[in-house]
Amino acid sequence: MSFTVPESMQAQYLEAYKEPYRLRSIPIPKLEEPHDILIRVDAASYCHTDYVLAEGQMPGLPKSFPHIGCHEFAGTVVAHFQTPSKEARAFAIGVRVGVPGRSFHACGSCFECKNERVDDPVAMDEGGYSVNCINAENKGLSKDGGFAQYAVVDARQLSPIPDGLTAVETAPLMCAGVTIYGALKRCRLKQGDRVGILGAGGGLGHLGLQYAVKMGYKVLGIEAADEPLKLSQDVASRLDPQPYIVDARNKKAADVVQEIGRQDNKKDIGEMGLDAVIVLPESQAAFDYGMALLKSHGTCVVVSFPENGFHINSRDVVFRDIRIIGSLVGSNKVLREMLEFSAEYGIRALSTSFPLAKLNELVDEYHKGRGGKLVVDMAIEA
Ligand SMILES: [Zn+2]
Ligand SMILES: [Zn+2]
Repeated sequence: MSFTVPESMQAQYLEAYKEPYRLRSIPIPKLEEPHDILIRVDAASYCHTDYVLAEGQMPGLPKSFPHIGCHEFAGTVVAHFQTPSKEARAFAIGVRVGVPGRSFHACGSCFECKNERVDDPVAMDEGGYSVNCINAENKGLSKDGGFAQYAVVDARQLSPIPDGLTAVETAPLMCAGVTIYGALKRCRLKQGDRVGILGAGGGLGHLGLQYAVKMGYKVLGIEAADEPLKLSQDVASRLDPQPYIVDARNKKAADVVQEIGRQDNKKDIGEMGLDAVIVLPESQAAFDYGMALLKSHGTCVVVSFPENGFHINSRDVVFRDIRIIGSLVGSNKVLREMLEFSAEYGIRALSTSFPLAKLNELVDEYHKGRGGKLVVDMAIEA
């Protein structure tokens, strides 16, 4: 199979902070090293971090303007470097791949790339590079990403797309999917354990409901806004067993704990409630609600990072022995596992597609806060 690569492509440029994207015709990017692969982008998904970046809230990023955003995309391999690495040769021309932002040009020599944290179920890769490499670039954040017809990617970032997943289905899983899948793994739960997802109707949350049910956990979804609440209820209604969705505006965490305690035949304070919660919203109220749902010795996984941080009640960590940890994406191994899992169990993001030329309309839609994922589908003509 071979592809004729044109000399120029359409790309959505961010030319300054707080500016709309601008569609430009620019040269096809060049391959620079053996791990590099040129892909034709087939779908590119919008993440909250794209918004944070465009607002200028990520110091030092992007490294320069103009910049092409998007760190969760999917495409088809169209060209290799003249002397491709073994990792790059593993992706033949025509193979469909999913691309996350992290570990583009991982150095292979920093402490993260050489790490041996083998007990970490999420961060570790065996190939001598790391998703946490301190010298790596980030597609769509420090370097150009997927809001363009073509992109240069690093073979060590990629996952093949399993049959049964389309590019539009794959793209939202490359950041949102792997992040929530990794956060669930970090909970270290057993089958039948209880997990709560704060922000269950958002981009990550509605995927989390699906993964958690298919992983065999008892799932509680928490929302506090009308549209995401409805979305989480819709997703829950199609799952078996159905997650229990709570509207935090009209039910106290303490009452939910009592209700669950009765179901589990537990009477003592501290043994009633959830084994783990995942905090996705940037709100203190969501964090507090999640902490209050936990049993003693439970785990709180923080995925969001509000500008002023979260306030932690020391009593929760001292007297109740709550473990608070963070989670950020996942290794390449976890990325591949997540895509296989998604294909096998039919995990899908609820998504709305836009053509590349209408990226600014996609952003307007994002701000309406209806939940689900918004994806550029390159197959749609403007
Ligand atoms: Zn993201
Ligand atoms: Zn490194």
